[in-house]
Amino acid sequence: MSNKKAAIKIIKRLNSEGFEALLAGGCVRDMLLGRRAKDYDVATGAEPKEVTKLFKRTLEIGAKFGVVMVLIDEDQVEVATFRTETGYVDGRHPSSVKFAQAKEDASRRDFTINGMFYDQLNKKVIDYVDGRADLKKKIIRTIGAPDQRFGEDYLRMLRAVRFATQLNFKIAPDTWFALCQHAKKITKISGERIHMELQGILADPNRATGASMLFETGLAKAVFGKFNDQQIKFAMGVVKNLRERIDFPLALVAFLAGFEPVSAIEKCEILKLSRNQTRHIKFLLENTGKLLDDKMTLAQLKMIAAEPYFEDLYEFQKAIQKAQNKSTAALTALRKRVNALEGVELKPEPLLNGHDLMRLGVVPGPTLGQLAEEMYIAQLQGQLKNTVQAQRWVQKWLQKRKTIEK
Ligand code: ATP
Ligand code: MG
Repeated sequence: MSNKKAAIKIIKRLNSEGFEALLAGGCVRDMLLGRRAKDYDVATGAEPKEVTKLFKRTLEIGAKFGVVMVLIDEDQVEVATFRTETGYVDGRHPSSVKFAQAKEDASRRDFTINGMFYDQLNKKVIDYVDGRADLKKKIIRTIGAPDQRFGEDYLRMLRAVRFATQLNFKIAPDTWFALCQHAKKITKISGERIHMELQGILADPNRATGASMLFETGLAKAVFGKFNDQQIKFAMGVVKNLRERIDFPLALVAFLAGFEPVSAIEKCEILKLSRNQTRHIKFLLENTGKLLDDKMTLAQLKMIAAEPYFEDLYEFQKAIQKAQNKSTAALTALRKRVNALEGVELKPEPLLNGHDLMRLGVVPGPTLGQLAEEMYIAQLQGQLKNTVQAQRWVQKWLQKRKTIEK
């Protein structure tokens, strides 16, 4: 469910008070493209204090910059006062904003396709920046001089690649040239924001186009350090062979597939990934190649198939094989073995726990750990089916250990 209805309600209310109020930015672009918009944003001539006065529930998330969040039932809508932004000093934030007219507000926006408004009352697109023409031509172009616009806010570089990827648009030549010139400076942007944009690029089904743009512009090198030709070729090969819908960690691992696992894991640190994402990435990188082992025991098979990211590991390995023109027969065979385990518990409770083992006379310590592990493997192998069998197995194990120690 989108917040469109809520946005329109807000617009009507603002209009009835005599304020100009329009749908703005991404939602207008998506409406014209016939795509589902993520969020409907409102831009208005009303100043933040007037917006807060008109609506019961508001959050002043960026009132200083002219942005108020208006809450209507379950929805929230960003209502932004028309503004100009000036004094970009650090390539990230404007130092001041001035309230202005719609036309000026359009020209502070990043790309022509993102710079349009929609007048809901008169059902008319308001386009001061020739956004419609670029939408038709499928082009990402900065509003105004690209060199200046990227210099003001470096994040726009990754946004350009993200929109080009998600919409399957080309980047205009002068915009592209300026982007390449500024690419190195992307490191001035926080890891979290780089992460969000990279995720938008690499998790997208059109990720191969996005990945290739990241390499060509120099953004990949700026974020992760140098890639040699072979590493680029390999990354592209793996990325191209992944299925359409995947999560970001798998896509990122594919993008970094040309590096040693330790080095790839280290590179991911820049992105300030969540703990789960980091675990996901580490699992994929540390287990690369394991699924090709055709001598995997039943216990090993159950253990790896029970891992939460097993399917991603399988997909990753398959893409690697294809990228290298190598056989996927081992993977197909593994899939058969895994399918045959349908209905079998992959990760059952151990037949005997630590307490049980101590009651059987095992002294706490490393021996107990080793014994528990070996017993669990025997259980997964199907050699132990119940506690009686397990107890017998433990007694034999202890006896054997005694004879060896003597
Ligand atoms: P998405 O569908 O991914 O949300 P969007 O176009 O709505 O795309 P947002 O980040 O939600 O992108 O921003 C909303 C609008 O604000 C953009 O369409 C653009 O007009 C403007 N905008 C956002 N970020 C920037 C920026 N860094 N520089 C200039 N304008 C921006
Ligand atoms: Mg948006």
